[in-house]
Amino acid sequence: MILVTGGAGYIGSHTVIELLNHNYQVVIVDNLCNSSEVILDRIKKITDKNFKFYNIDVTQKDELKKVFEENHIDSIIHFAALKAVGESVLKPLEYYKNNLVGALTLFELMKEYNVNNFVFSSSATVYGNSKICPIREDFQLSTTNPYGATKLMIEDVMRDLSKANENLNLAILRYFNPIGAHISGIIGEEPNGIPNNLMPYITKVATGTLTELSIFGDDYNTHDGTGVRDYIHVVDLAKGHLKALQKLEQNPGLITYNLGTGQGYSVLDLVKVFEEVNNIEIPYKITSRRPGDIDMCYADPTKAFIELGWTAEYGIERMCQDSWRWQRNNPYGYEKEDHFLDMGTC
Ligand code: NAD
Ligand code: UDP
Repeated sequence: MILVTGGAGYIGSHTVIELLNHNYQVVIVDNLCNSSEVILDRIKKITDKNFKFYNIDVTQKDELKKVFEENHIDSIIHFAALKAVGESVLKPLEYYKNNLVGALTLFELMKEYNVNNFVFSSSATVYGNSKICPIREDFQLSTTNPYGATKLMIEDVMRDLSKANENLNLAILRYFNPIGAHISGIIGEEPNGIPNNLMPYITKVATGTLTELSIFGDDYNTHDGTGVRDYIHVVDLAKGHLKALQKLEQNPGLITYNLGTGQGYSVLDLVKVFEEVNNIEIPYKITSRRPGDIDMCYADPTKAFIELGWTAEYGIERMCQDSWRWQRNNPYGYEKEDHFLDMGTC
């Protein structure tokens, strides 16, 4: 049985679908602080498979213990975390407590219940302001905000745990920029409030909820002056977790992989592709740089290809189509579903 913390979230829900499609038994733990119960029904609809769900906060050891008592957990994929960089600067204590205590609690329970396999959602943010691209796993690590610090600290804990206990198999997966959605268009990313990230902002402009995109700076050292990132389809990312789980079954100890495509696209590139493949105009204006942003960030995904046999399959066009299908079908996200349906029956 695979325990998926944060399995009702954006990346977690797509990973649960892949796991169920590959006949894994799944138990989700999520306190729904950034997701909706509606997602659970949609996962069932897509897969026609069932799974267990516990509405539990992973920082609450006594409650979480119940999950280990009631299920035979073989491996854990740990997505549950707070993830907004800007918010982490304003509320550092919440971020350190939620993200660090959640991971530490899981590590303690792994010890108590003899669970040895653990996959962790890390992020390219642990590379700090790397001046060199593509970024390899052995590059120097540093962080610039509390969110990133929680990722790096948990990685450090994992490195120490691995040295102390050779039975542990621990995977650190460093995601680049996940976008896109399941092809069904019924699950996808739905940030709270005004989106901070580029793709959800673009899709909200496309629905007319937001009037125009602000492009944060056109004087970066890139081919068109706008920031370059490595966008990866969330379904490819989800598949990377299955490959990592399979690798852990070979008792490799600690493993670390970048999950990215290796291709960098600028903000303007993404806007143009989105407009072309979806036949929608995205009005934009160039504004000043967002503090802390870097020129360029893209992965060298060679290690994951060689050691996991994983490579991203979907290109930027498909990412833009799938992001839009999800948002077009769900302009109000999950929470407003009832309201939306009510309006339809009036
Ligand atoms: P998300 O917010 O959609 O999913 C996280 C889920 O965890 C949510 O359903 C939330 O309700 C749950 N959660 C949070 N704290 C919890 C707690 N204490 N107990 C139980 N459940 C809790 O985020 P996501 O985009 O799916 O990200 C998943 C993971 O990947 C996170 O760890 C995030 O830091 C990491 N990550 C995300 C990105 C990205 O751009 N989306 C990039 C790199 C890394
Ligand atoms: N960006 C932008 N307008 C927005 C949001 C983001 O121009 O409303 C730019 C941002 O400056 C960066 C790129 O889009 O160059 C990706 O930003 P995002 O926040 O999605 O990812 P991150 O910067 O965390 O990699």
